[in-house]
Amino acid sequence: MAKRNIKLKWTLLITYLIIGLCPLIILSNLTFESVEKYFIEERKKELLLQANVISGHISISDYMHDESKSILFDYDINQTSKQSGYRIMVLDNTGVVINDSNKTEEGKIYYLPEIVDALNNKDVSSLQANDTIHAAVSIMDDRSNCIGVVLVCDSVADIAENVSEIEKSVLSIILVLVVVVVLMTIFLSWFFTNPINGIIEVIKKMSEGHFDQRITVNDFLHTELAELSESCNNMAEKLEQVETNRQEFVSNVSHELKTPLSSIKVLSDSVLLQDPDTVPKEMYVEFLEDINSEVDRMTAIINDLLTLVRLNRQEVPLNPQPVVISDMVEDIVKRLTPIADAEGIELNYTKAKSVTAEVNETKLSLAISNLIENGIKYNSENGKVSVTVDADHQNAFITVSDTGIGIAEEELNKIFDRFYRVDKNRDRQTGGTGLGLAITRSAVLMHNGSIKVSSTENEGTTFVVRIPLKQK
Ligand code: ADP
Repeated sequence: MAKRNIKLKWTLLITYLIIGLCPLIILSNLTFESVEKYFIEERKKELLLQANVISGHISISDYMHDESKSILFDYDINQTSKQSGYRIMVLDNTGVVINDSNKTEEGKIYYLPEIVDALNNKDVSSLQANDTIHAAVSIMDDRSNCIGVVLVCDSVADIAENVSEIEKSVLSIILVLVVVVVLMTIFLSWFFTNPINGIIEVIKKMSEGHFDQRITVNDFLHTELAELSESCNNMAEKLEQVETNRQEFVSNVSHELKTPLSSIKVLSDSVLLQDPDTVPKEMYVEFLEDINSEVDRMTAIINDLLTLVRLNRQEVPLNPQPVVISDMVEDIVKRLTPIADAEGIELNYTKAKSVTAEVNETKLSLAISNLIENGIKYNSENGKVSVTVDADHQNAFITVSDTGIGIAEEELNKIFDRFYRVDKNRDRQTGGTGLGLAITRSAVLMHNGSIKVSSTENEGTTFVVRIPLKQK
């Protein structure tokens, strides 16, 4: 098995951080880039506009042809450059600089692709490698001939500065957001993993045998976690129940076996205490008979226990076969009639219809035999036991009804418990182990059926067993 060393808490933490921070960082970078682009585009438009205005002014003022206006021309260019902060150059149609607001390039041939474009009547503005924008616009005479070019240049360093200022303030906001996201992430991963850790703790304790542990289910839990906690608690309750049952069972078995063993001990001690020369042989025989009956009783208990354990073993399949239930019950009644006769009890069988069901014959026979035997055992003098088999389209119904001593209302829900007897003394006479009805119920439940009892004290008891005709 692969080693599990990554905690869910860390997975959640990293996932939340990635989900929370990545879009934030990508988005802010994209925003800065587009803001810078926007400002540069705006600046390009502004320079073009400025260049157009200057070009128009030069045309109207006829600065290019009228030498007498050269001072005014110079003054105009300088003033405009001062006001706008841009460098302005005017070139003639051969590319010679005839006016430069910086005065450094006058008389020189200036060759730039933008100037070539402008001489071809195409106004352009573009960003240069040295972070300067060049906007070039042609100057036309009144016959629409290109007589020169106005070149307006400006640095974009201020834009980069402004953007980096914005970047700084946005970054500080992002930093605050990062702290908030990290804190929220820590809280969220704690919020989700803390209840799971609680559940794990409790389950660990349960696996160590502390079945009294319970998970606290509060309203803040998510539905799934609350359901998981509740399921764990139910499981713990079941385990606790199983453990209690197991302990009860072991103590019941010990108690049940202890009684005949103590009797045997008392009987054998008293035999040993006698003087063998004076005691008559009949007395020994009597003691041995008593010991023998206690051994029989222990054997009966152990046999019933083994039957019960075998029935409750989940891994043994039911293996149902189609059985004519009405015939099966009739055979049981026939087998038990001599016992009933010996007790002076009338045993009747009524078949409402012939019924066939998918059952395990041995197990169901055992269950029905127990009920009829009880009807005979717990009957009154000259009493009756009636057995009926009937069915509807889904279930077979086997009814065992007696006119016996009956069972008190408050005892009715206990009689199916292992070792439970209403009257312990009577049972010692009848030889009951208190396991018969537990065996019957297990066998019926194995068939996915049910067993119901109704009784009136001193009038009689009726058991109704329902068995589905078909097993799934
Ligand atoms: P047992 O081996 O003692 O008969 P069961 O499990 O068969 O054990 O029955 C449990 C107890 O239920 C009996 O001890 C008896 O007190 C009561 N009981 C069972 N069947 C009847 C019945 N038909 N009439 C009255 N009491 C009954």
